Amino acid sequence: MVLNNPQDPVAMQAIPSIEEITVKTTGVEDPLEEERDSVVPGLVHRYPDRVLMVLTDICPMLCRHCTRKREWKNGDWVRTPDDIEAMLNYIRGNKNVRDVILSGGDCLTLSTKHLASVIHSLRQINHVEIIRIGTRFPVVLPQRIDNEFCDMLSEYGPIWMNTHFNTVNEITPDSAAAIDRIIRSGVPVNNQSVLMRGINDTVEKQMKLCQGLLKIKVRPYYLFQCDEVQGTDHLRTTIDTGIKIIEGMRGFTSGLAIPNFAVDLPQGGGKITLQPNYIVARSEKEILFSNYRGRMINCNNTSADQPVYSPPALEAASANIVYNIPEVMDADRIIV
Ligand code: SF4
Repeated sequence: MVLNNPQDPVAMQAIPSIEEITVKTTGVEDPLEEERDSVVPGLVHRYPDRVLMVLTDICPMLCRHCTRKREWKNGDWVRTPDDIEAMLNYIRGNKNVRDVILSGGDCLTLSTKHLASVIHSLRQINHVEIIRIGTRFPVVLPQRIDNEFCDMLSEYGPIWMNTHFNTVNEITPDSAAAIDRIIRSGVPVNNQSVLMRGINDTVEKQMKLCQGLLKIKVRPYYLFQCDEVQGTDHLRTTIDTGIKIIEGMRGFTSGLAIPNFAVDLPQGGGKITLQPNYIVARSEKEILFSNYRGRMINCNNTSADQPVYSPPALEAASANIVYNIPEVMDADRIIV
């Protein structure tokens, strides 16, 4: 991070900006309405088979774009043993919950012993199949990923980790070594980044980030539209920017390097993922696509269990196929 450069992409994530209070805000404190979906304090149950345990609001980073920055004004807190027992009781009583996400703040601010006690209790619940840890520690304080922590991960798997690199500048030898230690403990690591204006909002920057992640064996999982949190308008791009970035990456690099572009909808609507539209036109049995280079290619949209034509009929019909192609299209580029 270059502290005397206000445009440094890491500094922009970490150092408060006057724009947080001067730009007219469209955001709210809790855009995802997590408070509304909290079934007991700290336990968010929004989707049928998974829950989110918010164990603390303490975090070493205090990202300016943080979705839970509403908590900062309440000072540092950690859930009490009674709070945690209430969360565990809820999970014990809900057999649909097969996936538990530990989060915060950053839950790795808790000691490994403290985390292990929560994870140990979760492992006593038969219907909890996987545990996920959401943490930015491998990026911002990789020394936290020590042997004690890695041994704990090995003991209680299957555990998955979601971390949070936003730019290629954050991939350092130390963060790569921390990721390596986590993976060697049997924990797959995925990345969730947030799309931010002037920080990582171009195809080139995302390409470098995602290809860099693959080199350290981290799968780019989500690229999130920046949530409509109060005081983040200056960091937010349009949703179209995200779709265009995915369009600029698809085909030009491995699919493994392309994250899902997601919008976590306001009002607790949950995540949706967005893709560029490759469908140009469709008839009843065929779809016309534009590929990543804009070449038009027609695909059959029938299947063997839904026979539409017998072969002779198909042959006869093929001479009369009418494609629903907009007039502006260059018909010479159509491949049938
Ligand atoms: S690391 Fe995560 S929890 Fe911590 S401030 Fe950043 S976004 Fe919020």
